[in-house]
This record gives sequence, C-alpha cells and structure tokens, in this order.
Amino acid sequence: MTPAETTKKQHTGIGDPRNNPRGGPGALPELSYEDDALHEECGVFGVLLKDPEKNAAPLVYYGLFSLQHRGQESAGIAAMRDKNIEVRKGMGLVGEIFNPETLAPLRGSAAVGHVRYSTRGSSVIENAQPFVSRFKLGSIAVAHNGTLTNADVVRELLEDSGVGFTSSSDSEVIVNLIAKNYKKGLERALTDTIQFIKGSYALAVLTEDALVGARDPNGIRPLCLGKLEGEGWILSSESCAIEAAGGKFVRDIEPGEVVIISREQVLSFSFSEKTRRAVCSFEYVYFARPDSVIDGIDVYGARIRAGEILGRESAVAADLVIGVPDSGIPAAIGYGRATGTPFGMGIVKNKYIGRTFISPDQAVRERTVSIKHFVIQSEMKGKRVVLIDDSIVRGTTSRRLVAILKEAGAKEVHIRVCSPPVRFPCYFGIDTPHRRDLISNGSSAGELCASLGADSLAFISVEGLLESLEPRNGGPRGGYCLGCFTGEYPIPVPGEAGRPGPEG
Ligand code: SF4
Repeated sequence: MTPAETTKKQHTGIGDPRNNPRGGPGALPELSYEDDALHEECGVFGVLLKDPEKNAAPLVYYGLFSLQHRGQESAGIAAMRDKNIEVRKGMGLVGEIFNPETLAPLRGSAAVGHVRYSTRGSSVIENAQPFVSRFKLGSIAVAHNGTLTNADVVRELLEDSGVGFTSSSDSEVIVNLIAKNYKKGLERALTDTIQFIKGSYALAVLTEDALVGARDPNGIRPLCLGKLEGEGWILSSESCAIEAAGGKFVRDIEPGEVVIISREQVLSFSFSEKTRRAVCSFEYVYFARPDSVIDGIDVYGARIRAGEILGRESAVAADLVIGVPDSGIPAAIGYGRATGTPFGMGIVKNKYIGRTFISPDQAVRERTVSIKHFVIQSEMKGKRVVLIDDSIVRGTTSRRLVAILKEAGAKEVHIRVCSPPVRFPCYFGIDTPHRRDLISNGSSAGELCASLGADSLAFISVEGLLESLEPRNGGPRGGYCLGCFTGEYPIPVPGEAGRPGPEG
C-alpha cells in the first residue's frame, strides 16, 4: 500500500468538513505509537514575486514539500491575485492535497502556505491553515506556527466585539485581530496585533500588497528569509525549504522582528523591547530537518556534537553504536567518534506509516512499535550495543527497541539520549503528552533503566545540550528554551512558574 493510500483511509479531502475519525463521538482514544514522540505543530512558507504576471503558488507547493516533517495532518495554500485571495486546504499530506487541478485556481504573484500537525482532538478541516479574512478594507491570509498562551482571552474580547470564529484554532485569533486593526494601516495593524498576543509565533501573512513575516519576541519558533535572485522573496520556517523553491537563504528573522516585503522593498522593524532569545532547543534535537540552519547553528552539526558530548559524559564499553532513525543517527556518529566505538546501522525504519496507525491502548502500542522499527540481525549477535535516541517521551519505543535488539542477539543494550529527560509539557507549539505520561516525570534514571529493560541509561546534561548548540563561527552565543526539560519557561505559561530559564 502506498503512503497516499494509507493516509487516505484516515483523512478527508479538500473542503470535506468531516472530522478525522479519532475526533468523532465514541471514537477510540486518540493514540498511535507516533504519540511516543514530541511533535512539531506547523510549518509556514510564503513567496512574493516582483513580476505581477508570475505565479507564486507552485513555489509554495515545493516549499511545503520540504516542510512536510513539521506537520502531516493538513496543508493549505492561499494566493493573492488582483486583491482577491483564493485558498485551498485539505487533510493529509501536501502531495495528496495538491495536484494540477487543486493548484490551478491558486494564481497570483504572492502566496502563503502551511503544513499542520494538529493537537489532540483538533484534527479537522476547519483548523487547517492558512486562515483568510475578507473585510471591508481588504483581505489577508495568515499562516502561523506556534501557540498563543493568551488566545482564550483575546478570542473572548474579539467575540464580545462581534467578531465570529469558524475554528477552534488559536491562529484564527491572529487573522481576526489584524483584520480588526487594519483601518489603522498595515504597519500599525501588525504592531497592535503582535503587541497584544503572547506566546510563540512565526507568521507568514499575505496582504493585498505585501508578504509579511513576524517572529515572537523570544524567537521560540524559527523563521527565515530567502531570496529568488532578481525575482522575489521567500519566508520559511526552515532554510531547507528555501532551496527547494529555488531560492537562497538570506538570514533568520530576528526575535521580535517584522519584515514587510513588497515589490519595491523589504522593510524591517522591531516591535518589542529587547527580550531574552529563547529558541526551542528541541528544534535542533529532533524537529528540524538536518540540512536546515537555524539562527546560525546547523542542525546536523548540532546533532553530531550532542553525540560527541554524550560520549564524553557517559561512555560505556561497547562493540557497536547505533542510532534510532532518523534523528538519532548523527548523534550516534558523534558518539562513535568521541569514544572510538564502531558506528553501524542496526535499525531500519519504515518511514511510510506516519500517524495513520491507531492503537487503542498502551499495551497494544507496545506490541505494535515493531511495525515501525526493524533490526539488522547480522549486526547484533553477541554484541554490546549503545543505542542512541534523540529523546524519551513515553518510553514505549525505547522499551520495544531494547527488546527487539536483545531478541536479535545483542548481549547488552545501553541507551544514551541526546536530550535531557522530558519532564514538563510544552506550551509553545509542540504537542506533548500529559505530564503523567512522560516516563521521566517522577522516575529516577535507575528506575527508568529497569523499566526499559536496558543495561544502562544516560541522558545528555542540560549543560551538554547547550554546549552542542554553541555557534561554531564565533558569533554570539544563543539563548534557548529548555522548558520541557527544566520546567523553566521563557515566558509565563498557564499553571507553571514561568521563571526565566538559564541563559543558553
Ligand atoms: S518547552 Fe521544549 S519543546 Fe517547547 S519550545 Fe521549549 S524547548 Fe521547545
């Protein structure tokens, strides 16, 4: 069965308002073995071409393909032509939603697109982006990556003033706020909106005359600017997608920066007081594609360094080091380099399952992890193996991997993890299980190791993770969010201390 076929069974098509089966009344609990990982929630992409006769939507389509890892449940593109916005959205992968027919109405020299991984229970077409607002003074489309921590308050205020909502998404708050403030002019509407919202956001906004990018004051979620030489500009969540659309990376959008890109110029202004940079450290560990560069740090290099640091911090005598595909592999290479342990490919991943597989409970999940990962048995026999993973969330995958490695003949399995223990939820755009389901919450490393059936277990230290993210080119040291590891968040969050985290 092709990936398209497996996904079609679960998702609905363009404009189809039926919910994903997991969200419907009486549905099975919404669990899949993909729940044993943290998930990015969105990717945004925008293009503005100088020639008004050219068509930006195909470039956005290519860009979204390269951001697919940031969200696989819905995608959409909105294009502006003659001050009219056309939008097409659907449930599923970019390649399933868009084809020559669905792309045909999306004509215009500026367009924005979005891929989404929904939070639990919100996997419905109404929440797919970009959101479009057509109002007396014009029309806009907004693509948002992140989570607003004050969305409920802002939504209530907007509803009290007569603004209607069509979705349960916090991102619709942004489009409605900009539309409400539009009479003050674009720049003022953006500033007023952005100063009102709190939380994490990377925005690509399409207006009648411009493409606008904005990044929250802490820079929690990434956003960068690219150039189509002589032809136009690109905004993208990650640099890897700029090249896919034929552009060249120019620079990251700074925390608290707004860029207004028109056919004549690129205007930039800062909308916030200087705040602490707090880029999501998990972007480097797991979410971002390894060929991306975020805020001057190349993701692949950071993963290699994390493995080297793990080797320095917690080496163990072993015959083989292997990585859990995909993001554990560069760290396994780094660990091997640092310790002299031979690196090998011990595990093969079936990449075509995605979130289409649903298990009703933990016990079934534990059995079914084996349809995702397979061991190369000839590599394992009688060996002491170091297994490198990017993170441990519920522990289901690690437990199963230890079991299948031992079944395949490994004499010892030592787990090394290139992120610190995940003990706290994320409030900034990452789908985290409930705190009680985070296996590191409340367990010591010894208890955890026993529960996973491993011979030893060690996590990289917080200091080690920060060291792996130090710039290589002598640039300024960045600041990082470490909230899910330390419980110290860069901004106040509901029910948490919201203390400023350590400088990274
Ligand atoms: S809490 Fe964790 S996942 Fe969320 S933004 Fe911070 S580092 Fe990233």
